[in-house]
Amino acid sequence: MHEWALAESVLTAAIEAAEKEKLKKITEIKIAIGQLQQIEEDIFKFALDEIKKNEEKLKNVKITIKTEKSTLKCKNCENTWTFSDMKKKLNNDESEAIHFIPEVAFVHTRCPKCKSPDFEIITGRGVSITQIKGKK
Ligand SMILES: [Zn+2]
Repeated sequence: MHEWALAESVLTAAIEAAEKEKLKKITEIKIAIGQLQQIEEDIFKFALDEIKKNEEKLKNVKITIKTEKSTLKCKNCENTWTFSDMKKKLNNDESEAIHFIPEVAFVHTRCPKCKSPDFEIITGRGVSITQIKGKK
């Protein structure tokens, strides 16, 4: 059930940011979820809806969620490529597995340029707030 913990930390962060900006109400929050983040979006949305009911500042907030593309970078030659490119080359079983266990990506993937297995995920891993709008 880490969707609930994630939803809570996103909303807490949004409230903290709003307090810093002296906003009385938050009207809109935009959230990006990385392609490689393991999350059940339906549960996440439900959790956001439930938690916001208890927060005065969040009463009429509009929350939009979009998926952020994951980008990977080779540590050897600094080539970058996207998770979508990678997915095309995998068969369905493997891409399902990657959806649920991102670590599997490390087992199946090599840099497309130099074939090094040593790479890092530079975008699209976690959950982040991309925008907060509110009223003072
Ligand atoms: Zn490389």
